[in-house]
Amino acid sequence: MTQARKTKILATLGPATDAPGVLEALIAAGVDVVRLNFSHGKPADHAARVARVRAAAQATGREVGILGDLGGPKIRIERFADGPVSLQSGARFTLHARADAMPGDGSGVAVSYLGLVNDVGPGDVLLLDDGMMTLRVEQVEGECIHTTVLNDGVLSDRKGLNRLGGGLSLAALTDKDRADIQLAAELDLDFIAVSFCRNAADIEEARALARAAGSQAHLVAKIERAEAIANLSQIIDASDVVMVARGDLGVEIGDAELPGLQKKIIREAIERGRVVITATQMLQSMVESPMPTRAEVLDVANAVIDGTDAVMLSAETAAGHYPVKAVEAMARICLGAERQFEHDTDFEAVPRDLEHPDHAIALASMYLTEHIQVRAILALTESGGTARYLSRYRSPAAIYGLSRHAAARRRMALMRGVGPIDFDSRGDQPRKAARDAVAQLYRAKLLREGDRVLITSGDHMEHLGATNTLRLLRVGADGGAEGLGVLPGAGRRARAATPAKTPS
Ligand code: PGA
Ligand code: MN
Repeated sequence: MTQARKTKILATLGPATDAPGVLEALIAAGVDVVRLNFSHGKPADHAARVARVRAAAQATGREVGILGDLGGPKIRIERFADGPVSLQSGARFTLHARADAMPGDGSGVAVSYLGLVNDVGPGDVLLLDDGMMTLRVEQVEGECIHTTVLNDGVLSDRKGLNRLGGGLSLAALTDKDRADIQLAAELDLDFIAVSFCRNAADIEEARALARAAGSQAHLVAKIERAEAIANLSQIIDASDVVMVARGDLGVEIGDAELPGLQKKIIREAIERGRVVITATQMLQSMVESPMPTRAEVLDVANAVIDGTDAVMLSAETAAGHYPVKAVEAMARICLGAERQFEHDTDFEAVPRDLEHPDHAIALASMYLTEHIQVRAILALTESGGTARYLSRYRSPAAIYGLSRHAAARRRMALMRGVGPIDFDSRGDQPRKAARDAVAQLYRAKLLREGDRVLITSGDHMEHLGATNTLRLLRVGADGGAEGLGVLPGAGRRARAATPAKTPS
């Protein structure tokens, strides 16, 4: 059996993936979850992309999740009268916080957020276009923010604006975000990402809106504001998934802080039982080039070694010249890094207070994999919850999440090392369900005779979060399951020699 990739790949859809055959090729190349960017495009465009993703996933028998990324309160400058303007270091430039301001020119431009005048003061540094242009605030006078340009550069329409150090007081959810949550519910999306969240309340508000709209989507907290770092633990607890949104985060906190924060966010998300995505500029040069730079290769590999569940592609797939090559490069680099990864189950990361019974069963399973050679852990799960807890331990054993719910399988598509499998055991006794599960994986050639497997299940598979049982079985002839008899010693070396396979 060949080794399958454990780290998951998230790819952003856009004009480049709308070309005939590209989306299908991306999925074939290994994309596990796609991202719709609600900052761009109309509802009908998103609906068309969703339909294509679902059809392509169906055609290939893959479980592909879909994430809707809310635009959030990104502050932008407005438009210029005659196209981009060149600004020189030392020049004066004025931001006009007025709804009826004239189109901009070399002396100033309007901003979309009228409250900006109350949030900034002399000495503040404003970063435009992800830091390509920096301005120092000299004076705030009525609706005008007078600044000095700090670098030579070109500024064009609708570029984003951040303040170094964060602290702009915008709420996380805009009216458009509320409408987009409704759209996400209608399109049955699997994940909803909250951009620029500040605290747990922002995530809870988005979750309440999603549930009211009939969506069971998992909530993704994008960590991209300085305030979010101050409230990191509570935001992680309020969310299902956390994104290290390096683009805006790097602008707000300065790039020197970014590597340390990436590691901290990944570690804390895993410790708190959440899934974590590392995002932005991972293979940026592949927007233009068919191969990544060495630095990009190392960046992706380091995120894998940090323990991220998923790595994300943005412009590389949405608007790049080589979307399929970017996914292929990502898959290759992840696999290589996983071979280097110290496959030690990390019990240090175990929370002191286990949240749920399925968490306790997951911990017991992982403890056993350390002491008995186990090929795979099969989680018979309704919601995917047990698979999530299992995958927090970064064990070398393959994890399969078996669920009858397509939505649960698509959410599991984002979890590191988890292979989602369609399996329905309603009405069966847990013992029979366990045996049927082993037989199904044996037929799919994911298990072989003699493999030892752990199976987690509940007394009633119809109930959410009811996992309370751990079984230890050995795969017999023709995929039958039998008890273990005498246990052979489980040397680490023996286990490493037979890497487990997850489906993809
Ligand atoms: P964005 O979020 O691509 O929606 O800006 C990710 C980031 O800021 O890194
Ligand atoms: Mn962002």
